[in-house]
Amino acid sequence: MRTRRILHPPPATQPCRYCIDGYTPTGTHHLIGPYYLACPTCITNGVRDACPSCAGLALFPAESSLRSFSHHCADQGYRPVLCQGCYGLLGLIPIGDQTP
Ligand SMILES: [Zn+2]
Ligand SMILES: [Zn+2]
Repeated sequence: MRTRRILHPPPATQPCRYCIDGYTPTGTHHLIGPYYLACPTCITNGVRDACPSCAGLALFPAESSLRSFSHHCADQGYRPVLCQGCYGLLGLIPIGDQTP
């Protein structure tokens, strides 16, 4: 009996075990909740580039939209500061006392 060997070509890039579409779940912040980072493993392996503005340091909140995230921050008295390169979160600025 003859056996046939079926060879599968390797994928162009191995799927990353540490992230979802280039973003890896990283932790939970007491103000913004769960957040992601641009996957350091993918950046190191050259699968994706680090943001030239923040070098991949910006956080990406798991909140579904920027609008609802901004409202979430405002409810807690903060305004988000976003990276101009990747629109990730770089920091939170206290809104300050708005009472007349
Ligand atoms: Zn990755
Ligand atoms: Zn950035």
